[in-house]
Formats: sequence, C-alpha cells, structure tokens
Amino acid sequence: MPARIVVNGYGTIGKRVADAVALQDDMTLAGVVKRTPDFEARMAVRKGHPLFATDKEALAKFQKAGIKARGTLADAMDQADLVVDCTPEASGYKAAYEKAGVKAIWQGGEEHALTNLSFNAAANFAECLGATFVRVPSCNTTGLIRTLHPLDAHLGVRKVLAVIVRRATDPGDSKKGPLNAIEPELEMPSHHGPDVRSVLPALDIHTIAVKVPTTIMHLHAVAVDLKGPADAAEVLDVWANATRVAFVAGSDGVKSTAQIMEWARDLSRNRSDLYEIAVWRDGVHVTDRTRLYYFQAVHQESDVVPENVDAIRALLELEKDPRRSIEKTDRSLGIGLAK
Ligand code: NAD
Repeated sequence: MPARIVVNGYGTIGKRVADAVALQDDMTLAGVVKRTPDFEARMAVRKGHPLFATDKEALAKFQKAGIKARGTLADAMDQADLVVDCTPEASGYKAAYEKAGVKAIWQGGEEHALTNLSFNAAANFAECLGATFVRVPSCNTTGLIRTLHPLDAHLGVRKVLAVIVRRATDPGDSKKGPLNAIEPELEMPSHHGPDVRSVLPALDIHTIAVKVPTTIMHLHAVAVDLKGPADAAEVLDVWANATRVAFVAGSDGVKSTAQIMEWARDLSRNRSDLYEIAVWRDGVHVTDRTRLYYFQAVHQESDVVPENVDAIRALLELEKDPRRSIEKTDRSLGIGLAK
C-alpha cells in the first residue's frame, strides 16, 4: 500500500509539496490541511486533493464559505503515516503529531533544535533513515549544501564565505518588503552558515546576508578555499555530476535572475518552478590554484520540494538507497532535463 502523506499548511511550500507527493507511485496524498477558506483552498478541491481544515473553528469557516472540507487535521492524521508540516515557523504542531503517532517533516523556518536532525538527500539520506522527525532546511541553506557538499566530497573544502542576496518575499505576497531599500542582516554570521552545519557539521562556513527588493530568486556569491589545487573545468565537472545543480551562462544571455526564471518558464514545468540550483558556468573562477569563486541562484519557492519527497522516503524507509530515491523524485518532477 502506498504511504499516506498529509500536508499541513497549504501555502507557497505546502501546495508544491502536495503536488509533488501526488506524482509519486509509492505514496499517496491523504490530505492537505488549510486554516483559511480562500482561493487556494478552492484550488486544492479543484485539483482533487482531499481538503481538511486545521480545527473545528476553521471547519466552520470552510462550511460558511461553501468549501467542502472532509474534517480537521486530527481526522486527516487518522489516515496518515506522515505529515509534512508547511505551516509558518513555530506553529507548534509537534505535540499533536506525537499524540497522533505520525512521523513529521518540518521546513526551514523551524530551528534545527526542533528535530535535532536536518535533511539533504545527497548529503545525509542514510542518517535520516527511519527517523520520526526531521527538518528540511531553508531554500538558501539547501542551495548552499547542493553545491558545497559535492565540492567538499570531491575536491575538499577548507573554508567558505558566502554572501547571500535574499529576495524580499515571494511573488504572491504583497505585504512584505523592502520595496525600495537594501537591508543588511546585522547578525554575524547570518543564520545560514550555522544552518548549513546542521547537515554538514564539519564545514567551515561563514555567511553574510542582505535583503533586496526582488521576489523571484536569491543569489549567492561564494568564495571557497579548496584543500588542493583545481581549475574551473574540474569544479564544473563536479557539479555536472552532482544532484540538482543546473548550469546557466552569461554568454547565453542569462545576465540575471530574471533570465533564469524566464528559462525556467520555458522549461514548462509545474508553476514554472526551478528545483535545481542555477550556477553561472562562466561565473566560476579559480585564482591562486585553490581559491574558487562562483555565483548561484536559488528559486526559493521550489528547491526544497524534491528534498521533501526524498525525506518522506527516508523517514518511512520506502527506499533505502538515496540515489534511487533521488532518481525517482527527479524523474517525476522533470529534474535533469534542464542540464
Ligand atoms: P506560507 O505563508 O506561504 O504558507 C503557510 C500556510 O500555512 C498558509 O496556507 C497559511 O494559511 C497556513 N497557516 C498559517 N498559520 C497556520 C497555523 N497556525 N496552522 C496551520 N496552518 C497555518 O508559508 P511558506 O512560505 O510556505 O513557509 C512555510 C515554511 O516553509 C516555513 O517554515 C518557511 O520558512 C519555509 N520555507 C519557505 C520558503 C519560501 O521561500 N516561501 C522556502 C523554503 C522554506
């Protein structure tokens, strides 16, 4: 029987994870749980996703709005093996999941301490096999791990400095800013460096973050001291064989994140999502034989989606070989076609 998955919180990440789960043949989407009876709830019903309301109060609001919900989160959990929690940070459902006896996966807004286990399919799938609770780190952290883990594994990384230029908010959000300002994160290092170490504990990484008025992607400018000499071609070769890394090129007219997302739209995937981390091929430079510089862009709404699917497989031990899980997920989402 396919594993029964419930997605709690049906916003930017939740609706993408729900669609991705629905595509898998070893799991079934047993429910999506929403708090507000809005256009996204109506769309969930239209897509045929079993819709549940957060609690009895929310259920009454759904009834009043004429949206048919099948029950509450508690009812959804009765039919679930695992909940993917895509609610905003610190929504506080851990005790409810424990009480219901379901496994759970949280997103990057939560602290690592909530689960003491953070997941990346290529880096630590085996460590998370059979776990009860895990967290998929944020879009930025996932993006850094995607390129740094293979570099460390193949060439050895001595030290990293990553400057993270963060998007202000997601395209569907008209409430947040900055609108006409650049906002430095004054904490040093920014939380991203320690967060990368929640998956790669031995990596010496420092991060600096600034927020800018764009909604479409994050951009990382990364400086890496390699343990041994390498040239740009060797570095590109490592990423060509890595998981969920795609190349773009300034020489092809991809001068900014705007063209990357145009390219993503041309790929005709669901919602024009770009699950891979986009690395500028002609932005990779090695100086002094061991100092590597590169730029990468992260589609904040979607890079964590395949990681959630693989995390489900790891926790429920639907697949024990990370390669096979990654390949299965990638095939279902069309990942790899961008290479
Ligand atoms: P979102 O605001 O788009 O969606 C959250 C959903 O949860 C909404 O449907 C909202 O109505 C619902 N919700 C709010 N409070 C709730 C509650 N108390 N109980 C149940 N549902 C509730 O948020 P998001 O951007 O999808 O973020 C979800 C998680 O994913 C966060 O941890 C966030 O840090 C992380 N994340 C977000 C992004 C991104 O760029 N948006 C990227 C990676 C990870």
